[in-house]
Amino acid sequence: MEKTLFQKIADREIPAQIVYEDELCVAFRDISPAAPVHVLLVPRKPIPSLAAVEEEDAPLLAHLMLKARDIARAEGIAEGGFRTVLNTGADGGQTVPHLHIHIIGGRSMQWPPG
Ligand code: 5GP
Repeated sequence: MEKTLFQKIADREIPAQIVYEDELCVAFRDISPAAPVHVLLVPRKPIPSLAAVEEEDAPLLAHLMLKARDIARAEGIAEGGFRTVLNTGADGGQTVPHLHIHIIGGRSMQWPPG
């Protein structure tokens, strides 16, 4: 099967500013940042979206949440606050069909999103 864009980044086939990686996930800076800090955290497993996760993915999802916390701390935005976003499907605004968590911070956020 064709690799997703984010698999290619994880496999170093497409360059990106990687800020964290381990055996389960990779985090890198968004190419078009929406705020001073904008990191994408992706599992190495090419799960298409949150709508496609399985029960067996529960430990991986927990791992991603903990790593999102760690990345927010490392980026200096944990204390002031930050936003985590999972866009899912067409109506959710998802453009890359590989599960990813946006970790966005460094400025005050608005609600609701557009
Ligand atoms: P989505 O819209 O699917 O939730 O988020 C996809 C994100 O991937 C967007 O914020 C977009 O800027 C980012 N993105 C798209 N292509 C690339 C790329 O080649 N490199 C990096 N680092 N980010 C990308």
